Amino acid sequence: MNLILLGLPGAGKGTQATRIVDTYGIPHISTGDMFRAAMKNETPLGLEAKSFMDKGELVPDDVTNGIVKERLQESDTVKGFLLDGYPRTLNQAEALESNLQNLNKSLDAVLYIEVPKDILMERLTGRFICSNCGATYHKTANPPKVEGECDRCGSHDFYQRDDDKPETVENRIRANDELTQALLNFYKERGLVHTINGQEEPDEVFAKIKTILDSQANS
Ligand SMILES: [Zn+2]
Repeated sequence: MNLILLGLPGAGKGTQATRIVDTYGIPHISTGDMFRAAMKNETPLGLEAKSFMDKGELVPDDVTNGIVKERLQESDTVKGFLLDGYPRTLNQAEALESNLQNLNKSLDAVLYIEVPKDILMERLTGRFICSNCGATYHKTANPPKVEGECDRCGSHDFYQRDDDKPETVENRIRANDELTQALLNFYKERGLVHTINGQEEPDEVFAKIKTILDSQANS
């Protein structure tokens, strides 16, 4: 089963990715892991990627596409794969399509975990940290037992990481949403997209994914 997993930051992609690969015995192929492996093994493309990253530059698409293509030829992908974080752009999606054709493979499904942006904002901006001991909390998911007081050290001093501040999160969501919508249109034209409501509990979300994938396997 050859799959792509899409979803905005905070949609719960990581949790579902783990469950999908555990259940179906296919490798989880994420861009970060792939880059690390290619660099560690010092493949020509890995070294090329490293030369860009060392300079603090973005790795060009042709290098990224090449690394993915190499990864998709490894023996553990015979039964399938779950791509996560790739493709990120339309150019990458087009390259993936032709690379898969060359490898005599094709995609079976693109799973999109959909969560409204205001809920993502709530999930992603709720995190705060005790200034004294570093304990982390979340406004709704994991608040201190006594409001405004750290469970661990009793401090009343908290802060938010820049990454968790509303303005940063909003920009991150918007940028990701534009890319994701473009990818969704591309894959909708190919009849591959399955949209899953990501607002439910992780168990529920996975049950829906499983229904989709099991009916794919039987068709
Ligand atoms: Zn504390």
